[in-house]
Amino acid sequence: MLGLMQSHPLLISNLIEFAARHHGDGEIVSRRTEGDLHRYTWKDVAARSRQVANALDASGLAAGDRVGTLAWNGYRHLELYFGVSGSERVLHTINPRLLPEQIAWIVSHAEDRIVCFDTTFLPIIKGVHAHCPNVQQWIMLCDADKLPGDTGIPNLVSYEAWMGQQPSTYAWPVFDENTASSMCYTSGTTGNPKAALYSHRSTVLHAYAAALPDVMNLSARDAVLPVVPMFHVNAWGIPYSAALTGAKLVFPGGALDGKSVYELIEGEGVTMAAGVPTVWQMLLTHMQANQLKFSTLTRTVIGGSACPPAMIHAFQDNYNVEVLHAWGMTEMSPLGTLCTLKEKHRKLAPEEQMKLRLKQGRAICGVDMKIVGDDGQELAWDGATAGDLYVRGPWVVASYFKGEGGDPLKGGWFPTGDVATIDADGFMQITDRSKDVIKSGGEWISSIDIENIAMAHPAVAMAACVGMPHPKWDERPIVVVSLKPGAELTRDELLQFYEGKVAKWQTPDDVVFVDAIPLGATGKMLKTKIRQQLSDYKLPAA
Ligand code: AMP
Repeated sequence: MLGLMQSHPLLISNLIEFAARHHGDGEIVSRRTEGDLHRYTWKDVAARSRQVANALDASGLAAGDRVGTLAWNGYRHLELYFGVSGSERVLHTINPRLLPEQIAWIVSHAEDRIVCFDTTFLPIIKGVHAHCPNVQQWIMLCDADKLPGDTGIPNLVSYEAWMGQQPSTYAWPVFDENTASSMCYTSGTTGNPKAALYSHRSTVLHAYAAALPDVMNLSARDAVLPVVPMFHVNAWGIPYSAALTGAKLVFPGGALDGKSVYELIEGEGVTMAAGVPTVWQMLLTHMQANQLKFSTLTRTVIGGSACPPAMIHAFQDNYNVEVLHAWGMTEMSPLGTLCTLKEKHRKLAPEEQMKLRLKQGRAICGVDMKIVGDDGQELAWDGATAGDLYVRGPWVVASYFKGEGGDPLKGGWFPTGDVATIDADGFMQITDRSKDVIKSGGEWISSIDIENIAMAHPAVAMAACVGMPHPKWDERPIVVVSLKPGAELTRDELLQFYEGKVAKWQTPDDVVFVDAIPLGATGKMLKTKIRQQLSDYKLPAA
């Protein structure tokens, strides 16, 4: 028997219309690439999102067509979030930190018809446009009079000239909530980047879940600063959750240094901020050096990489700011777990509480998780037994865009590539990573790519890339190398060999020469053994 309730699809356009109607005067503040602060309201976001939708109609984009963005966190990017998805097109957020060749590959693979970009990224677009024949229009996110001449980019127009004259009324289409809304490529897997393709349903359900008290605890009384970029899994869904709750949004643009972020937090009365450990490290360093305090910030969501204990202590003990340690993935929209204590834990001694806070946290309702052993059998939730972490749920990937990489699921579950324990209270803790990638400052580096480049050097017999803990970047790659008999090679020669082959920040920090790389029975490099052998190793000072 079916229920007898109204069947309204869960659509992203509902979120922005809700924010406009119920929180119309709620503020959105953005630091622009020009350096100044731009202010307007949720009502304005809605009006200009409708203008974007009209402009997309005028550009002849069909339902399902992809619109790429290469942009910082800011108000125009927010308008594209709602205008593109709300009008049944697919928003494709692109990571500008990738190599130009990778960006061109991604734009072509996604078949973007329009690409919108911040002025900062003009040099990237100049380098890639000729390799993206599918793009019919390039749109620079700026005023008409700021558009530079003679860029050599065909069909280049300013955002304001493109959408500024369009009507601000639009009848948002109503369609199946399973329709695609946005996509994000991840390099956190081996092989070519793969895209998670989110739906309206997955995005709206995730937005509700993210706002829950034991998750980000968002409300109309909050001013939220997503330092996590809008090109990293939709800024962890914060733009949608902010519209759903009517929270004030504060966008940092490209100014992620400690001083700029601190000034924004204080100037705009930010109550909650979210980002990867590296940005918080820069903020804390600035605050310590200048003996500063927060006056409004109460909590910060830290995820993307493990949050170091010293950071949790610094926020809590020095600044009275609660750290909410979060874990998730591009493939999970991204939120999976968040670390908030239960009532019974509040009676624990501070050091016991800290042990819990260091864990990645409890599953958010909607995410089902389990740990399994090598035989595929589920392991006990005893806080000690570690196994491969599997997840499933309505905002977890079922397949990558265009079926890239084959079926990613095992028996209906998504293997995360993380290794974890889960305790009896359901607190998950990442203990290792089974996927062969390294995360530096929140960005992925493929170990295999680093190894392949080293092995292309005529003097190298074998190379293994491993991540080493780093105080600022969380992890940095080094390459362990054995040479061919009689061959000679210096550290600097090999590091120079990486120039032009990977982005500068992906180049290993060091080379360690060994006589032989330990191999397993099947000839596979034993990374665990290599890491053991390097237990006393220290990264060179920058
Ligand atoms: P991405 O898809 O780029 O968001 O990366 C997701 C991966 O980042 C996860 O599978 C983990 O390997 C890692 N990760 C994310 N959050 C955390 C965390 N809090 N602690 C440790 N690793 C994390």
